[in-house]
Amino acid sequence: MYRTHNCGQLRAADIGQKITLAGWVQKSRNLGAMTFIDVRDRYGITQLVVGEGAEASLKEAADGLGREFVIQATGTVVERAAKNPKMATGDVEIALTELKVLSRADTPPFTIEENSDGGDDLRMKYRYLDLRRPPLQRNMMIRHRMAQSARGFLDREGFLEIETPFLIKSTPEGARDFVVPSRMNAGEFYALPQSPQTFKQLLMVSGYDRYFQIVRCFRDEDLRADRQPEFTQIDCEMSFVEQDDVLETFERMARFMFSETLGVEFGAEPFRRMPWSEAMARYGNDKPDLRFGMEIHELTDRAKSRDFAVFNDAEYIGAVCATGCADWTRKQIDELTEYVKRPQIGAKGLVWVRLDENGDVKSSVDKFYSAEDLQSWASAIGARQGDMIFVVSGGRKQSLRVLSELRLELGERLGLRDKTKFAPLWVVDFPLLEWDDETARFYAMHHPFTSPKPEDVALLDSDPGAVRANAYDFVVNGVEVGGGSIRIFEQELQARMFALLGFTPEAAQEQFGFLMNAFKFGAPPHGGIAFGFDRFCSLFGGSDSIRDYIAFPKNNSGRDVMIDAPAAVAKAQLDELCLVSTAE
Ligand code: ASP
Repeated sequence: MYRTHNCGQLRAADIGQKITLAGWVQKSRNLGAMTFIDVRDRYGITQLVVGEGAEASLKEAADGLGREFVIQATGTVVERAAKNPKMATGDVEIALTELKVLSRADTPPFTIEENSDGGDDLRMKYRYLDLRRPPLQRNMMIRHRMAQSARGFLDREGFLEIETPFLIKSTPEGARDFVVPSRMNAGEFYALPQSPQTFKQLLMVSGYDRYFQIVRCFRDEDLRADRQPEFTQIDCEMSFVEQDDVLETFERMARFMFSETLGVEFGAEPFRRMPWSEAMARYGNDKPDLRFGMEIHELTDRAKSRDFAVFNDAEYIGAVCATGCADWTRKQIDELTEYVKRPQIGAKGLVWVRLDENGDVKSSVDKFYSAEDLQSWASAIGARQGDMIFVVSGGRKQSLRVLSELRLELGERLGLRDKTKFAPLWVVDFPLLEWDDETARFYAMHHPFTSPKPEDVALLDSDPGAVRANAYDFVVNGVEVGGGSIRIFEQELQARMFALLGFTPEAAQEQFGFLMNAFKFGAPPHGGIAFGFDRFCSLFGGSDSIRDYIAFPKNNSGRDVMIDAPAAVAKAQLDELCLVSTAE
């Protein structure tokens, strides 16, 4: 037997027992007469001690250990003289009697401890060593727990886990596809699924009325902190349901996961639901962070009346009240202004209005507005003495975007975005279509299988941009955790939708013929949702980066620097695939 216990297990109650541990040497300290060794595995760390009077060979073996050696250590559990309350095993140590090196290790390129001294790139290159560190091990455990709780919930609710293929034809999820050349079909390509969307709908036609899959999806997009070229979804679909049925089912799943994994309980009240248009107007964003208020207020009509050209020329003027910030210094205001002027946010400037505790009103536009004007803005916004108001103007869309970022940054600076608090929300009634100026055509906001709201179908011809969809997102703390829709299941409506999206009947048939044909053979009404599992995990773990929750992620250029992928392949391989080499 390699071990009787793990390295996080022993307590005072075990004192006197003879035990064997196996693990990695985190550190070893030779204090002359005594040697202390910390041995680590994924359960914790235990201190081993070679005391005075130990056999010379044992002392020698202990002093010969290097960091990350894999050892097997046998000894007796004894009470520790200097207890360490920070360690779960800190009441005891092991008086060593036998020590065996199972595997030697080179000096690791960075320290493998709670906080490592290694930079990002180095840790990515040696990901298998980084994964030994307790924070990453905790993340993998959270991920495992969450997957198990989702799977358990869905199983009990009668969902069947069914796998769908990875080598498929392009799915229209709006991103670029990764393609795979087919050797047996020279010159032709498979696409890797951006999601199992069409297959799960086909499964509904096949009568599997509750489906789920914890599944890898692939999208060839530019990467950001919360994006990876391959990521995991909890993908679900149900038949004979309306929007309320889907929201109710998955709200229960979310509650179960929060409760099981984090011990977080929400009250009996259903999660809040907010129409998309309201989210945009009040938060400038379709995934509002509801952990704090400070909503956006429109001031367009009110603020236009004087001779301030910047406002008078603006399509939209809006403001956010920074509660209790009247005492902000010039420097703080300038910093915030610089923040929203960064190219990613793109504000031209920031107007401020300060409501001093003594009743004075000061602003960066005092030249144009009287104290009464500014007071009237304040009362429209609900700002009080002691508050600061920040005003943004310009095009409507752009200004709302700036205000949304401004609000989030203020929330951050004021400490209102507490990672241990969770504010769940369903955003509903998304627009069905989104107009793109550049290509002068509509795109599906969610995907082309999303159904319009029955009461809006009449607008499909007259005002397609105003049609709302039976589409919903699950948002927590400003993070879009999941999204889905009720699907079109009528052939005729689906054909109309493809036409609106600019497909000729032939092109629609060629791309989606299999689905439209399937709908000819009895399609049930259906709908579903997919949760971004990596993001869900990082939310639960209180981190902004999904990378920390993926065992082997890619870096920002889509590379796996550990295995060095992607990489060139030999000419012979390309020839076999009928591909042409670009190499010299
Ligand atoms: N396939 C969709 C997505 O990946 C989710 C859904 O509509 O169920 O966003």
